Amino acid sequence: MSEYELVIGLETHIQLNTVTKIFCACKADSWEMEPNTNICPVCAGLPGVLPVLNEEVLRKGVLLAYAMHSEIRNVSFFDRKNYFYPDLPKGYQITQYDMSLGNGGYMDLFIPEDAGATRRVSITKLHLEEDAGKTKNAGSERLIDFNRCGVPLIEMVTGPDLRSAAEAAQYLTRLRQLLRWLGVSEADMEKGHLRCDANVSIRPVGSTQLFTKTEIKNVNSIENVRSAIELEYERQVREVEAGNRIQAWTLDWDDEKNELKKMRSKETEADYRYFREPDLLPVRLSDEWIQAVLADFPELPLHRKQRFLTDYHLTEYDADLLTTDRQLSEYFESAVKVYGGDPKKIANYLMNDVLRMLNESGKSAADTRLTPQYLADIVKMADAGKINASTAKNLLVKVEASGQAPNEIVAAEGLGQVRDDAAIRAVVEKVIAGNPKEVEAYRAGKESLIGWFTGQVMREMRGKADPKLAQEILKEILGS
Ligand SMILES: [Zn+2]
Repeated sequence: MSEYELVIGLETHIQLNTVTKIFCACKADSWEMEPNTNICPVCAGLPGVLPVLNEEVLRKGVLLAYAMHSEIRNVSFFDRKNYFYPDLPKGYQITQYDMSLGNGGYMDLFIPEDAGATRRVSITKLHLEEDAGKTKNAGSERLIDFNRCGVPLIEMVTGPDLRSAAEAAQYLTRLRQLLRWLGVSEADMEKGHLRCDANVSIRPVGSTQLFTKTEIKNVNSIENVRSAIELEYERQVREVEAGNRIQAWTLDWDDEKNELKKMRSKETEADYRYFREPDLLPVRLSDEWIQAVLADFPELPLHRKQRFLTDYHLTEYDADLLTTDRQLSEYFESAVKVYGGDPKKIANYLMNDVLRMLNESGKSAADTRLTPQYLADIVKMADAGKINASTAKNLLVKVEASGQAPNEIVAAEGLGQVRDDAAIRAVVEKVIAGNPKEVEAYRAGKESLIGWFTGQVMREMRGKADPKLAQEILKEILGS
């Protein structure tokens, strides 16, 4: 099988998270609404009404185009793509054909098998369009929901530049991260915010000749895109080795059986009879307008990761994890600034304790009550020995639950660490007096009991003793 290499191009549809649809005032997000309750004469395609372009769609389109290194056209056009399908009440889709908002572009990927090497994935299409409705089978009937008609989409198509299922998965993972980072889409594949079709073909390694490609549709997770491409690769190799021709099929991913089914033979572009949309003016964007949109363009994830590596001396793993989402990376950086000490300490608290806590409560770094300032305060108190490590961890949870400042909680609940030699000594003596058998065993050489003794002292002092000091006093009195 290894004499054939994969050639993959991905076609993605990205649902923008605008408030309203692309050409009318209906809500863009109707995920939880009853079917056919989120429509109006414009998106339902009634005659005599005119579409009005939503400016928010343009703004989000410009942000994504810029991030993809795409040329942003000052003048672009909307076109009609004509086809008949029950979920398309107008009989045509408003989209952009030859003069779209974005022109060209690329994304660089790291090649998984070759550390340090990158693969440039070209972008051949980046355009705005409206979504169609949804159909679903219900027994012998077919039901249609028009709520999604007119929801703003960006269609983005790559060149045939991807060479493995893993690269395709990486492209989608990076794209999803970027969409959320820019705040242009929720990019949830299960909810259809990010949809992916894959064009897959094979060729003998070293050859530029291509066999016919097939198209895989309706895959709803990155993991399934990877599996579907791997299965299709194996099928195509089997066909070619059996001396058969690959047919230009469209294949449907069956989510329950994890297999591909043939849908239909593919239409060609010419079937759609594109022409300029007569109801909309050309989209004219001045350089000033574009600059204003890009004024707050954020530092992108890969760049931020590099900066975390150099500025804060984090490990590759930590820098990667802390830049998975933009809010988390900003939280980390604010906490580091307030703290002023070793950034690695903040990183450890964040990754080991705060993230776990947020996962459990379903909150994000943007809406936790444990602000960067509070986290820094807690780490500082631990550094200064005012609280011990386990109290610090409990405090994270208490601050998150109450929203109260950590120093107030410490004062109110008397959580401050006891470092008073005499107070600890008194408790140590009590523990030793109360456990003669263990004392005897310890003195006979079972030194591992020191941990147990320390635990007893900590328990007597409700966790507030400085454990190191407690151990020192224990050793002194027990004689080590
Ligand atoms: Zn509408």
